Amino acid sequence: MTTDSLEVRKVLHPIKTRLLRVKRITELSPAMRRITLAGDDLAGFISASFDDHVKLIVPEGLGETPNMPQQGPSGLVFDAGRPKPAMRDYTPRRYDAAAGELDIDFVLHHEGPATDWANHAEPGHFLGIAGPRGSFVIPAAFDWHLLIGDETAIPAIGRRLEELPAAAKAIVLVQTMTDAGRIEFTSECRPEVHWVTEDTTAAGGVSALETAVRNISLPEGEGYVWAAGEYSDIKAVRQYLVGELGVDKKRIRASSYWRKSAPNTHKNFDD
Ligand SMILES: Cc1cc2nc3c(=O)[nH]c(=O)nc-3n(C[C@H](O)[C@H](O)[C@H](O)COP(=O)(O)OP(=O)(O)OC[C@H]3O[C@@H](n4cnc5c(N)ncnc54)[C@H](O)[C@@H]3O)c2cc1C
Repeated sequence: MTTDSLEVRKVLHPIKTRLLRVKRITELSPAMRRITLAGDDLAGFISASFDDHVKLIVPEGLGETPNMPQQGPSGLVFDAGRPKPAMRDYTPRRYDAAAGELDIDFVLHHEGPATDWANHAEPGHFLGIAGPRGSFVIPAAFDWHLLIGDETAIPAIGRRLEELPAAAKAIVLVQTMTDAGRIEFTSECRPEVHWVTEDTTAAGGVSALETAVRNISLPEGEGYVWAAGEYSDIKAVRQYLVGELGVDKKRIRASSYWRKSAPNTHKNFDD
């Protein structure tokens, strides 16, 4: 293995907005539903990493066309005559260029514009997307991959597991709100998967996810840790891995995908 093959790469893409329609809805679990989007606008879509996100542009009313922005010289420009739409970050779970389909997997158990839309979506309904603006590409060549997250990270983790080669070693830790939120991952690399259930009674505010991370031993060799989920949980997991276990900051990507009691938050702890 060369050092070059372990370099993470940041790739920028021109921002493009796309108006899509729901083609299919698949229930993955009581906590998650997959919405397959399609439309001519999807042509040329690029997503280079499981870590990518698109901004969903949510219609104001069910079945309505969202207030789609135009790309201006300094960012997205919205029709001033209409309310600015809610925009939320979601993982491009699967893009199939030949079929012209993009899957987005939605966690369903809270209220918010994106979740409410997903809960009531029907085939034919409109949804806008913008991006991905850039990709953080983590090589597959690491000796091991540790993937950590809550339900919002299941789409990214599921995609990563499908993209890793058969020879890869992957350890996966996922926290769900209830046992019913667990899904089957598909992968050629036969990952070691540990599911834990959120423990709202845990003493000292230590999440079940953090406890699970503290209970595993990192394999030998050069590895990479990817973690995403609720702000405080991921911050604590990162603090343990970097501060206590000594994981090299260049070998971890930890992101807050949402934050309790705060809408629409996104933070990469390593930027
Ligand atoms: C890069 C990135 C990729 C993401 N990928 C996905 C994905 O593929 N699938 C997915 O489901 N989510 C994903 N998320 C998380 C998603 O963007 C947030 O959960 C988002 O806040 C949902 O928007 P909303 O309109 O439903 O709720 P908001 O209006 O943003 O929030 C409303 C309320 O719900 C709470 N809330 C938000 N999310 C959750 C949650 N998951 N559980 C419990 N309470 C919550 C907030 O704290 C707030 O109080 C991703 C986030 C990022 C940053």
